[in-house]
Amino acid sequence: MSSTLLLNASLKNKAPAKINLLGYDLVHMKAFFTEIGEKPFRAVQVLKWIHQFGAEDFSQMSNVSQDLRRKLSEIAEIRAPEIVAEQKASDGTIKWLMRLDGGNSIETVYIPEDNRGTLCVSSQVGCALDCGFCSTAKQGFNRNLTSAEIIAQLWVANRALNPLALKSLALNSLPSNSLSLNKDASNGAETGIRHGKVQDSKNRVITNVVLMGMGEPLLNFDNVVEAIHLMLEDNAYGLSKRRVTISTAGVVPALKRLREECDVSLAISLHAPNDQIRNKIVPLNKKYPIKELLEACQYYFKGDTKKKQFTIEYVMLAGVNDSEKNAHELASLLKKLPCKINLIPFNPFPNSEFACSKMQTINRFKDILYKAGYVTVIRKTRGEDIDAACGQLAGKVKDKSRRIKVANTE
Ligand code: SF4
Repeated sequence: MSSTLLLNASLKNKAPAKINLLGYDLVHMKAFFTEIGEKPFRAVQVLKWIHQFGAEDFSQMSNVSQDLRRKLSEIAEIRAPEIVAEQKASDGTIKWLMRLDGGNSIETVYIPEDNRGTLCVSSQVGCALDCGFCSTAKQGFNRNLTSAEIIAQLWVANRALNPLALKSLALNSLPSNSLSLNKDASNGAETGIRHGKVQDSKNRVITNVVLMGMGEPLLNFDNVVEAIHLMLEDNAYGLSKRRVTISTAGVVPALKRLREECDVSLAISLHAPNDQIRNKIVPLNKKYPIKELLEACQYYFKGDTKKKQFTIEYVMLAGVNDSEKNAHELASLLKKLPCKINLIPFNPFPNSEFACSKMQTINRFKDILYKAGYVTVIRKTRGEDIDAACGQLAGKVKDKSRRIKVANTE
C-alpha cells in the first residue's frame, strides 16, 4: 500500500481497507508484489497457496518468510463470500447460497457426473436482460460480481468438496515460529504438503466450469476475464479452454473482444430459430439480431474449432419455439457453424408464463436436427428438487434495475 493511502487512512483515524488477493490473476498479483517492494516470484507462491491449497490465511503459507507473511496480513486478505446454505439434491447436485454485501446473495451449483464434475458459476447479482423463461431475470439486477466473488465460487466449492485435503493442509501448515521445512523456497508450495492440495490436476473434483449461473457474463467483461485467467492459470486451477465455458445471450461487441483476450468455449443462448420468436423471449435480440450474433460467433471460432467447444442452447417452450418447422429453420440457420445443440427442457418456476414442451415433441425436434447432421443432446435436468436446474437460480437480489421499478409502479 502506498504511503499516501496509509496517511489518508490514519488521518481519518480508521484502518485502511485490506486488499483482497483472491481475485488477482498472475499479472495483477505480480504487480501487487512489485508495488510492495517484493520479488514477483512471490506471486506464483501465493497464487498456489490460495487456489491450489485453498489457504485462507497468510499464516498457512509455510514457504513464505515470516516477515512477508506478517506484512501481507497487515495490508491484504483472502476473503470469499460466506456460504449461508447448502442443499443436496437426490441426484448428487449441490447448490450453495453465498452471502454478499448489502443483503444480496448468489447461487452456485455443482453437478457431478460419471466422468466429470461441473461447477455452474454466477457472474452478476441478478440479471438485467429479462429473458422471459428465466427465473433469475424475475429477481431484477443489482450489480456485477467482482473477480474475487466470481473465482471465490470455485475456491469455496473446492474447499467444500475436499474437506480432507483441507484438514491435511491444516496439519501440515507450520507454526509461524517454525520454518524449517521448505523455508522460503522459491519453487512455490510444491513440497511437504503435496497431498494437501484441494486442487490437484490428477484428482480434480471440479473438472469443468460453466458461467451459466446468475447474470450475463459478457456484461461484466473485465471481472469475468480476470476470473477466467485464474481458472486457466497453471499456478491456480489449470483448466483447459475446452473445459471453461462462457454462456451468453449474445452481447456481440464483447464476443469480438473475448476472442482477443480469453478465447474459452462458448455456449450461445439462442432459444429461437428466427428474430420474430427470439425478440419475444430474449429481448437482447432487438439490439443484436440473430444474423449479427452468428457472424460474431463465426469470427470467434475462425480457424480454431478444435481447441474450443461451441454449443447452441435451446430451451424447449411448448407452442413457442418447438414445432417441426422451427427445427428445420434452426438446422438451416446454423449450417455454417460447427456446433453442438443442447435442447433444454424448460424448468418451470412460480408465475412463469411458459410450459415445457412434451417429451415426444422434444424427441421429434432432436431427430430433425440429428438427421440434418448436428450432434444434438437433450440436457438431463439436474438438481430439480432443490431448484438448481437451468434457469432456476435466483439467490437474493436487492433489485436496482429500472425495469422492475417501472413494472412495480404500473
Ligand atoms: S437467461 Fe441468462 S441472460 Fe437471460 S435473463 Fe437469465 S441469466 Fe440473464
